[in-house]
Amino acid sequence: MRYSELFCPTLREIPSEAEIISHQLLLRAGFIRKATAGVYTYMPLANRVLRKIMNIIREEMDRAGAQELLMPIVQPREIWEESGRWAVYGDEMFRLKDRHNREFALGPTHEELITSLVNADVHSYRDLPLMLYQIQNKYRDEIRPRFGLMRGREFIMKDLYSFDADYEGLDISYNKMYEAYRRVFERLNLKYRVVEADSGAIGGNESHEFVVLADTGESEIVYCDNCDYAANVEKAACVVEKQDISEPMRDIEKVATPGQKTIEEVSAFLGISKDKHVKTLMYEADGEIIAVVIRGDRELNEAKLKNFLNCAQLFMAEENKVRKLCGATFGSLGPVGLECKVYVDLEVANMRNFVCGANEDDFHLVNVNLGRDFVPEAVADLRNAVKGDKCPICGNSLDVLRGIEVGHIFKLGTKYSEAMNATFLDQNGKEKPFIMGCYGIGVSRTMAAAVEQNHDEDGIIWPIPIAPYHVIIVPVNMKNDKLRTAAEDIYNTLIEAGIETILDDRDERAGVKFKDADLIGIPVRITIGPKSLQENRVEIKKRWEKESELVELTGVLEKVREILKG
Ligand SMILES: [Zn+2]
Repeated sequence: MRYSELFCPTLREIPSEAEIISHQLLLRAGFIRKATAGVYTYMPLANRVLRKIMNIIREEMDRAGAQELLMPIVQPREIWEESGRWAVYGDEMFRLKDRHNREFALGPTHEELITSLVNADVHSYRDLPLMLYQIQNKYRDEIRPRFGLMRGREFIMKDLYSFDADYEGLDISYNKMYEAYRRVFERLNLKYRVVEADSGAIGGNESHEFVVLADTGESEIVYCDNCDYAANVEKAACVVEKQDISEPMRDIEKVATPGQKTIEEVSAFLGISKDKHVKTLMYEADGEIIAVVIRGDRELNEAKLKNFLNCAQLFMAEENKVRKLCGATFGSLGPVGLECKVYVDLEVANMRNFVCGANEDDFHLVNVNLGRDFVPEAVADLRNAVKGDKCPICGNSLDVLRGIEVGHIFKLGTKYSEAMNATFLDQNGKEKPFIMGCYGIGVSRTMAAAVEQNHDEDGIIWPIPIAPYHVIIVPVNMKNDKLRTAAEDIYNTLIEAGIETILDDRDERAGVKFKDADLIGIPVRITIGPKSLQENRVEIKKRWEKESELVELTGVLEKVREILKG
């Protein structure tokens, strides 16, 4: 490709609407353009990246035994009524009516459609297992689309659905996909982690997330360096080491803490470290007010609390209700003498002589002890995991990383097949619901995640397997016949060798060309300047290294091949 013919309008300025790196760089480098909020055009370079991501995904899905089909975006209301999701999907679903007033959805996902499709044409256990997938646009009417391709309203997904006759079959399909996903992310050359997406504590369905690591990512994960364990911070089970609580219980004391509300303030005021404090949070769970006690420097995990209580609705209690029940308000609450159920985090059960609010404004209690001073309704794992927690598998200390969730695999079981009455006949001629799994990869999101993970202050640094082109040739002056001829020669040699190459034949200053090459992130840059060319040499620079290297003209192809082999 000649740069002069390439449709890649780069921008010098950072567009003001773009808050995160991938959004900024993809706009600046001419990869995407906004059509409307959360909806983008993929420009030619982006389209090449997406095609490469899709090809790797396709090859691995096919290798795992899946078959590709293509389902429609427009889906009739009826199938969503069958699953019961037409009513519950809410405003995130784009809905439309045809001229006959029939209602449709723009598919946010395809479980309903594939279940009804398979139900219509698969009747016997002999036709199972079956794995079907597609790469298709999806639609979600996000309330506030932002972060470019990260949270768009139209996005590209690979979604795959497995159908099995029994749960053993589902385990096999699931493991095939797990392995296929690992190969996809290895081949994309992205640093990633597989994360347990289920706490396991509630006996839910097995599920894993594939998270591309990036400091700017919105997911926080804890992981173990010693074994494979990794989990989303919100979902990670916290293991509490048995601590030495031989420390004798001291007498409980009420102390004045005028104006001191937060744990920080009270800790500083009393000169007692934060990990010797507990905080008491008031919630309304299905209409009943309850108290939750966690260590002062921890965060409550509402999902864990909700699961533990097995309640439908959970929210923070209103201040007036709290004051009525406790006789004090936030900042002065504690579990002692409370007339409601008290739930205590595991860690607190190991604490001695701690500090909490006295349920009287501007007073706290010190030397409080569980059992002696209050009796909780239950003790459970209720907090978010943090760096330094023990690995639940091997006991090693956990670390924290940030990343972007780009893949999710999930055992659905009979959730959709039962709701939609999708059945087959088993070996005994008995009607049974299909056992299903679903497996997604955000394709456009993966492109954005690759940029979040691989960039510097000058622009994108594409991993070689998904780079839009592999080599860019930059003659520093196109008006110099010798330089131009040498550039054309190298260009022809590389093209003939099947290497995806851009020749920057624009009549621009070398500085402008270098800036654009860095911005669009082409892995290998070959610079042709008058001085080195006199010695029959050119400069070759890898996008991710600062220094370039002089290479003989005759050795260029070999050198390029060596770099691309990585
Ligand atoms: Zn471990």
